[in-house]
Amino acid sequence: MAAYSSIWQCKRCGSTERYAGGGCKVCQRNRVAAYVAANAEKVKARTKKYKESNPERVKAVKARWVAANSEKVKTWNTRWNEEHPEAVKAIRDRSYAKVKAKRKGT
Ligand SMILES: [Zn+2]
Repeated sequence: MAAYSSIWQCKRCGSTERYAGGGCKVCQRNRVAAYVAANAEKVKARTKKYKESNPERVKAVKARWVAANSEKVKTWNTRWNEEHPEAVKAIRDRSYAKVKAKRKGT
C-alpha cells in the first residue's frame, strides 16, 4: 500500500504530493493561484463579503491560527516592536491615557 502511494506521480506536473482524495497538491495549488490571479477583484469582493457575513467564523479561524503559530506571532511582534519604537510608545501612551481617563470617570 505504502509503496503504491509513493510510486504515484502526477501526469501533469510530475509531483508526488497528493491529497488523500487523490488530487495533485501542486496542480491544485497552481489552479487556485491561477484562478485568484485571473479573478483578483472577484476573489477580493467575495472574501470581503464572506468576512462581513461570518465575523465570528473569521475570528475563530484567526484565533486558531494564532494559537497554532504563537511562536511565529511572538517573533513578529517582537520584531515589529523593535522596528517601530515610536509606534510602540504611542500605543503605550494611548492605553495609559485610557486607563487614566477611566479612573477619573469613576
Ligand atoms: Zn500535478
